[in-house]
Amino acid sequence: MKPTPFDYCCPDSIEEAIEVLAANVDDAKLMAGGQSLTPMLNFRVVRPALIIDISRLLELEYVRERADGGLTIGALTRHRVLETSELVASRFPVIPETMHNVAHLAIRNRGTIGGSLSHADPAAELPMLTRLLDAVIVARSVRGEREIPSADFFVAPLTTALDDDEIVVRVEMPGLPAGMGWCFQEFSRRAGDFALAAVGILLDVQGGTIKEARVAMMGVADTPLRRPEAEAVLVGKSLSDQVVADAVHAACDGLEPGVDLHASSEFRRHLAGVLMERVLKKAWQRATGDAQ
Ligand SMILES: Cc1cc2nc3c(=O)[nH]c(=O)nc-3n(C[C@H](O)[C@H](O)[C@H](O)COP(=O)(O)OP(=O)(O)OC[C@H]3O[C@@H](n4cnc5c(N)ncnc54)[C@H](O)[C@@H]3O)c2cc1C
Repeated sequence: MKPTPFDYCCPDSIEEAIEVLAANVDDAKLMAGGQSLTPMLNFRVVRPALIIDISRLLELEYVRERADGGLTIGALTRHRVLETSELVASRFPVIPETMHNVAHLAIRNRGTIGGSLSHADPAAELPMLTRLLDAVIVARSVRGEREIPSADFFVAPLTTALDDDEIVVRVEMPGLPAGMGWCFQEFSRRAGDFALAAVGILLDVQGGTIKEARVAMMGVADTPLRRPEAEAVLVGKSLSDQVVADAVHAACDGLEPGVDLHASSEFRRHLAGVLMERVLKKAWQRATGDAQ
């Protein structure tokens, strides 16, 4: 199928883009990398009267250091940059470890962080990473800028807290304690497919004891999740077989993943448990140098 007819504009600045969006809020769609929007246009899932192509706004394509050791990432930063940037790897090694799982190279060359977050697929890696990293998503409209914590940003599948006239302009990722262990793993049927389930973890280990733990999951609910129950099990402990078992149980207890033609709810929950055990052991090893 082909898209329904639409008008097209390509603003020269973010100011122009937000003005055009505000003036056409009921029937315009932003296009960034076009990797999710184009199929939706072709299938006529969306039928906008106007496409606002923001892909050439170079002012939104950057990765900058923050004073606290974190990063500010412009909304048009491509997936491939997040996968290969030495600066990103030095601050958040969990990002490149995750990004090579996103789709295929051609898609990663075009897809943007702003597009992925705004699209809000429940099995997309970047939304989950923003939960893991306690990121803040900054949106702009003619009314000004608004900061939305990632915990509040993802509302339902393909639905975010963005207002219709808002454009994601950047993502703020606060710095992490030095030496944190990290790991991300997912399971998908074929390389490049959306994952059936995935788990990301960060561990701050001091003197053999876990001081801070962050556990995030995707593919197992309508939105990416943090698992505070598992985090609470881990804090104050050293890793042992019992602690691993307790953390896996806490991470998966109460999960009710959806069913589709790819996997049953039980299988996705099982995968989440297997992945949780693997990432926990790997992150511990990276934080301490000790295999568990
Ligand atoms: C075959 C295939 C496999 C894929 N596999 C994966 C995968 O495994 N994991 C994964 O995470 N993704 C996957 N994707 C999606 C891919 O990562 C997309 O690049 C991404 O989801 C959307 O980014 P984009 O820049 O292309 O956005 P677009 O397609 O341009 O836009 C997506 C949506 O976001 C809106 N939007 C875009 N930018 C902004 C902005 N700055 N502010 C507000 N709204 C905005 C658009 O209006 C549109 O509604 C896959 C895509 C394909 C085609």
